Amino acid sequence: MDFISTRNNEIKKTLSQAIHRGLAEDGGLFVPEYLPKVDIKKFSRDLTYPEFSEKILHTFFQNDLLEKKLLDICTNAFMFTVPLEKLNDNTFILELFHGPTLSFKDFGARFLAECLNILSEKHKTTIMVATSGDTGSAVASAFYKKSNCNVIILYPANKISIRQQHQITCWDKNILALEVNGTFDDCQDLVKSAFKNPWWQQHLHLSSANSINIGRLLPQISYYAYCSVQFYHRYHMLPGFIVPTGNLGNATAAYWAKLMGFPIREIVLATNANKIIVDYLQTGEYAPRHSISTLANAMDVGNPSNFERLQYLFNSYDMFKNNVKAISATDDDIRLTIKSIYEQYKRIICPHTATACFARQQLSEQPWVVVATADPSKFENIIEPIIKLKVPIPSQMQYLLDKPTKVINVNKNLVDIQEVISDFLR
Ligand SMILES: *Cc1c(COP(=O)(O)O)cnc(C)c1O
Repeated sequence: MDFISTRNNEIKKTLSQAIHRGLAEDGGLFVPEYLPKVDIKKFSRDLTYPEFSEKILHTFFQNDLLEKKLLDICTNAFMFTVPLEKLNDNTFILELFHGPTLSFKDFGARFLAECLNILSEKHKTTIMVATSGDTGSAVASAFYKKSNCNVIILYPANKISIRQQHQITCWDKNILALEVNGTFDDCQDLVKSAFKNPWWQQHLHLSSANSINIGRLLPQISYYAYCSVQFYHRYHMLPGFIVPTGNLGNATAAYWAKLMGFPIREIVLATNANKIIVDYLQTGEYAPRHSISTLANAMDVGNPSNFERLQYLFNSYDMFKNNVKAISATDDDIRLTIKSIYEQYKRIICPHTATACFARQQLSEQPWVVVATADPSKFENIIEPIIKLKVPIPSQMQYLLDKPTKVINVNKNLVDIQEVISDFLR
């Protein structure tokens, strides 16, 4: 299969090329040329998660260098569980946070790391990534000791939680984390300018691991597919999914899974107070803006980078409105939801998952799967004062917390950063 730019169907690349480039040369995002239709009767119920993923992703990999490696990629990347828990009769929780850095970003980052390490056998690649929290740790962990790749992570000073920072700065060898005196948007701008800068391009063979990379999105189709098939077999009903949303990457993967024919009834996006999508659905006007800080910080996005992919999928306002539904939660809604879910069910949820649980309360009696995007232990500073209880620390978190960290502070200036990284690359 080929992958085309959202801005021009004539820009066509193989999957490997699309993964390596990140962004199309016209500034568009890569999307599959078509979404292969599946016949769910063909999936045996006994497949493991990696086997299932290989089967549903296979068409996307057809005729690509990576095709023969796909099962290995899935097996190495998805070495953790993907449980579907029941909250009550018509609410379920899909826990996507059992990977090494405890957020759903482990799925995409680990899959991409396997792909890029294979693709960089002849030429070392430098992955550059801006993070507002969970991407940084997932990418660092996924690429750690992948011998064909170096990683540079930029994160904003004083804008992420202490444990998030710990998880980003506890690596060595091929991982370099830089604390930038600026905002997340500044970090993202630095990455963009590095990509446009000839010195950086020539010396580093840059590639991106942000959710614009198609290599991160494709593996996210798998868990929607897997969960919906299991749900359908178990309950003979089609579930709806509620997806906590920031850059719209996870949401795009959910729509792709639905359009491929997996048994998904509908999809609802949950946002925090950064409710650009909610406003777009109401007004028909897409008005990106600066992000505002909320309790669900991994969703603090004012201009979602994957909006272009959703718009490509639903290419008129009417079509968009007929397919996309979104509900936003304020910080107060998030706090109240964390509290009530704990009191009612003795379950501790993270602030991002809370936006989806809040949305669940506004929706029908039909069955809904809330997508749980992070383990609560990453946000103990927010949760513990609300439920007045210590959040248990999973073994993966303890392992990372026990590692020493190193903070390297830089100004938001590419020339300064260039000096720091030339030591790292030596
Ligand atoms: C990144 C992230 C999100 C938002 O996902 P997008 O794909 O950017 O929409 C939600 N929750 C958590 C915990 C995250 O880390």
